Amino acid sequence: MIRENIQRILRELPGSVELVVAAKGRTAQEIQQAIEGGATIIGENYVQEAERALGRIGNRVKWHFIGHLQKNKVNKAVKIFDMIETVDSADLAEALDRVCAQENKIMPVLVEVNSGREEQKFGVIPEETETLVKRLSSLKKIKIKGLMTMGPRFGDPEAARGYFAATKKIFDHLAGLRLPGVEMQFLSMGMTNTYQVAIEEGANIVRIGSKIFGERPSKSK
Ligand SMILES: *Cc1c(COP(=O)(O)O)cnc(C)c1O
Repeated sequence: MIRENIQRILRELPGSVELVVAAKGRTAQEIQQAIEGGATIIGENYVQEAERALGRIGNRVKWHFIGHLQKNKVNKAVKIFDMIETVDSADLAEALDRVCAQENKIMPVLVEVNSGREEQKFGVIPEETETLVKRLSSLKKIKIKGLMTMGPRFGDPEAARGYFAATKKIFDHLAGLRLPGVEMQFLSMGMTNTYQVAIEEGANIVRIGSKIFGERPSKSK
């Protein structure tokens, strides 16, 4: 089932759009099946879960961090991940930069925008995104590669369109500034319920979990 689900999604996605398989709460075996179905990027919300999965699966896929990164997990995260999609503060970015310097690694990152200005969500609010990106652009060991946003997860997908469009607008604006060290290449938006709308609004990374693996037993974030 997992294999067929992912193959169907991959056939449907435009060639310019990359699929991140959102794997939180899934077993290594389930992730394995997604890889057999064609997945090349696995998204993890928790460093510990990712460590376990990476131990079983290894580096034949790319690993993206898509959860909220706590500062005490930065050391491990730098070793594990190929991209951090959820940088939302200068503090976190500076911690990443320091550890990357120690590890002699350049880390591609996306800046997470709280496009809905939802209090319970992480991310920098839209009007502060430019200031944050400018500040982070001087860090040598992280490389800003674009933006990520969640948007509303459930309900009518059309309710997410405005948030995605607003994030795309910020993305285009930042690209136009041509900041040194900043490359606006990836716009990661859209999940199971909203990815078609997200693509229409300019996403070139979508993060899909439930449509591949089935609903999670609990609706945990
Ligand atoms: C869980 C999750 C997804 C995928 O959500 P689904 O609705 O299961 O497709 C995408 N992005 C993030 C950050 C997530 O935590």
